[in-house]
Amino acid sequence: MLSKCANPECSSSFLYFHEGKLFRSETSSAPAGDDASPDTGMKKTARRIEFFWLCANCAPKMTLIKSGDGIAVQPAVRAQAAGL
Ligand SMILES: [Zn+2]
Repeated sequence: MLSKCANPECSSSFLYFHEGKLFRSETSSAPAGDDASPDTGMKKTARRIEFFWLCANCAPKMTLIKSGDGIAVQPAVRAQAAGL
Protein backbone atom coordinates (compact mmCIF):
# COMPACT_ATOMS: atom_id res chain seq x y z
CA MET A 1 0.00 0.00 0.00
CA LEU A 2 2.89 2.30 0.75
CA SER A 3 4.76 1.83 -2.47
CA LYS A 4 4.17 5.09 -4.22
CA CYS A 5 2.94 8.61 -3.77
CA ALA A 6 -0.69 8.78 -2.64
CA ASN A 7 -1.41 11.21 -5.42
CA PRO A 8 -2.89 9.08 -8.19
CA GLU A 9 -1.54 11.48 -10.76
CA CYS A 10 1.98 11.14 -9.46
CA SER A 11 4.15 8.12 -10.02
CA SER A 12 6.92 8.79 -7.53
CA SER A 13 8.03 5.67 -5.73
CA PHE A 14 8.31 5.55 -1.99
CA LEU A 15 11.98 5.44 -1.13
CA TYR A 16 12.82 7.28 2.06
CA PHE A 17 10.83 8.27 5.10
CA HIS A 18 12.53 11.62 5.34
CA GLU A 19 11.30 12.62 1.93
CA GLY A 20 7.80 13.93 1.52
CA LYS A 21 5.12 13.56 4.13
CA LEU A 22 3.70 10.54 5.86
CA PHE A 23 0.05 10.33 6.84
CA ARG A 24 -1.59 7.89 9.19
CA SER A 25 -5.17 6.88 8.73
CA GLU A 26 -7.01 4.95 11.39
CA THR A 27 -10.09 3.09 10.30
CA SER A 28 -12.39 1.32 12.71
CA SER A 29 -14.26 -0.86 10.29
CA ALA A 30 -12.86 -4.31 9.74
CA PRO A 31 -13.14 -5.46 6.17
CA ALA A 32 -15.06 -8.68 5.80
CA GLY A 33 -13.10 -11.62 4.56
CA ASP A 34 -9.76 -9.90 4.81
CA ASP A 35 -8.16 -11.92 7.53
CA ALA A 36 -4.89 -12.71 5.88
CA SER A 37 -2.73 -10.51 8.06
CA PRO A 38 0.06 -12.22 9.99
CA ASP A 39 -0.43 -12.96 13.63
CA THR A 40 0.94 -10.02 15.54
CA GLY A 41 -0.77 -10.73 18.82
CA MET A 42 -3.55 -8.30 18.04
CA LYS A 43 -5.82 -10.37 15.92
CA LYS A 44 -9.51 -9.76 15.56
CA THR A 45 -9.03 -6.09 16.12
CA ALA A 46 -11.50 -3.85 14.42
CA ARG A 47 -9.01 -1.05 14.10
CA ARG A 48 -6.72 -0.71 11.15
CA ILE A 49 -3.96 1.78 10.74
CA GLU A 50 -2.85 2.56 7.26
CA PHE A 51 -0.06 4.77 6.14
CA PHE A 52 -0.06 6.95 3.11
CA TRP A 53 2.80 8.90 1.70
CA LEU A 54 3.07 12.03 -0.37
CA CYS A 55 6.34 12.55 -2.16
CA ALA A 56 8.45 15.65 -1.60
CA ASN A 57 7.04 17.10 -4.77
CA CYS A 58 3.39 16.61 -3.85
CA ALA A 59 3.53 17.18 -0.08
CA PRO A 60 3.59 21.00 -0.31
CA LYS A 61 0.78 21.04 -2.84
CA MET A 62 -1.45 18.19 -1.75
CA THR A 63 -2.93 16.97 1.47
CA LEU A 64 -4.79 13.88 2.54
CA ILE A 65 -8.18 13.99 4.13
CA LYS A 66 -10.37 11.33 5.61
CA SER A 67 -12.99 10.18 3.19
CA GLY A 68 -15.40 7.53 4.38
CA ASP A 69 -13.35 4.49 5.31
CA GLY A 70 -10.35 5.62 3.35
CA ILE A 71 -8.47 8.74 2.44
CA ALA A 72 -8.69 11.17 -0.42
CA VAL A 73 -6.04 13.37 -1.93
CA GLN A 74 -6.96 16.97 -2.37
CA PRO A 75 -5.06 20.15 -3.17
CA ALA A 76 -3.71 21.79 -0.08
CA VAL A 77 -5.63 24.97 0.53
CA ARG A 78 -4.10 27.58 2.74
CA ALA A 79 -7.20 28.03 4.85
CA GLN A 80 -5.36 29.34 7.88
CA ALA A 81 -2.99 31.55 5.95
CA ALA A 82 -5.29 34.31 4.90
CA GLY A 83 -3.73 37.15 3.00
CA LEU A 84 -0.49 37.06 1.10
ZN1 LIG B 1 3.90 12.70 -5.60
